[in-house]
Amino acid sequence: MPSTFHILLIAALFCVLTFLVSFSLVRSGIAGIREWAAANAIGFFAFILYAFGRELPPMIAYEAANGVYAAASATILLGYRRFFGRRMPMGLLVAGVAFVMLAIAVFHYVVDSFALRTIVVSMFQVAVCLMIALTVFRSRQSRRSRYPHLFAGGMAIVIAAGHIIRAAVHVAHPGEMTSLLQPSPLNMLFLSAGTMTLPVLTLGAVMLVHDRMMATAERAANRDFLTGAWSRRAFFEIAEREIGRVGRSGQSLSLIMLDIDNFKQINDSSGHAIGDLVLVDAVLRADAAIRSVDYFARVGGEEFAVLLPDTNRVAALSVANRLRAALETQPGGGDGRVPAYTVSIGVATLVAGEAFAHLMARADSALYQAKAMGRNRVVSSEDVAGQPRHP
Ligand code: GH3
Ligand code: MG
Ligand code: MG
Repeated sequence: MPSTFHILLIAALFCVLTFLVSFSLVRSGIAGIREWAAANAIGFFAFILYAFGRELPPMIAYEAANGVYAAASATILLGYRRFFGRRMPMGLLVAGVAFVMLAIAVFHYVVDSFALRTIVVSMFQVAVCLMIALTVFRSRQSRRSRYPHLFAGGMAIVIAAGHIIRAAVHVAHPGEMTSLLQPSPLNMLFLSAGTMTLPVLTLGAVMLVHDRMMATAERAANRDFLTGAWSRRAFFEIAEREIGRVGRSGQSLSLIMLDIDNFKQINDSSGHAIGDLVLVDAVLRADAAIRSVDYFARVGGEEFAVLLPDTNRVAALSVANRLRAALETQPGGGDGRVPAYTVSIGVATLVAGEAFAHLMARADSALYQAKAMGRNRVVSSEDVAGQPRHP
């Protein structure tokens, strides 16, 4: 027959387990993980103190054990704050833990009441869990990271609710439970649920860390390292997908090819580093000029492509002209180090049944024509004589 002692021992072992899992992630260097690992190590000691409460002096079993457990929860919260880049005054956490210990001492030496001690501990847990939930739900989340957010924040709320119920039971029946180690069914139930709190909050954290690592890896694979624009590889994948989509919906789709004029000269006269600054500057300006549904990619050294879903020839030309104007710069961007530069643009609009490679070839010859006509201009594929014919 399991006793409260066994339940508390299992809780301590759970902490060891979640410590080992979170510790394995420390080398990722993501903020918050050290705190989560530390919280589980602290939690282990708290449960050991609780479990051996009968053998220990009351001051260790009450004030110290509850103080250590409060410190573990506070450290979990600190991890969540750091993970999301939010401030957490250490003074507030230390004061919170000190307050718990003081209140426990009062309800030990002044009024000896297990019910009041439990209510103090539970209210502290409620505060911590609600702060975790608030931190999680207030953070920015992508569609993919919704599940880990929902899990971590939702579980924090469930745990807070459990503690409110526990406190309410003690308010309603103050004399019924007299010790944490009492084997009453209700106490066993609360203890069993309690064994899960640190592991569950840590699992939520691990899910969030995993999600962030995936986002970083995805970014490295799909984005150009220098400018942050879509990479050539990702762009071709996106283009095939979008062409399939407009093929089904019957919408139009356009492609812009864009090349910086005389870029070699910029490199030669100002240096490669300034050339790089121009590339970054061009992406920044272009991003501000296009819609969020458009895809801006770096397809070559100083060549860019923009995929415009649901955009016909007239609209694409107006986007291209807007882009050209946005990129015809005066010297001065990027701390005043970016020299003046211009771009040439070719535009083509997808014809039903056309392959992406063909659309790109048409936009490319329009771009070539823009260069031939003197640069810093937009040419539409329809205006190019001898363009690659549509199959
Ligand atoms: P045009 O107006 O005809 O486009 O002339 P251009 O000089 O821009 O064309 P060209 O293709 O001859 O030169 C492109 C240059 O871009 C050559 C290459 O050294 C430079 N380049 C390619 N990638 C990078 C890069 O990542 N950083 C820098 N700074 N330069 C790059
Ligand atoms: Mg060029
Ligand atoms: Mg070029």
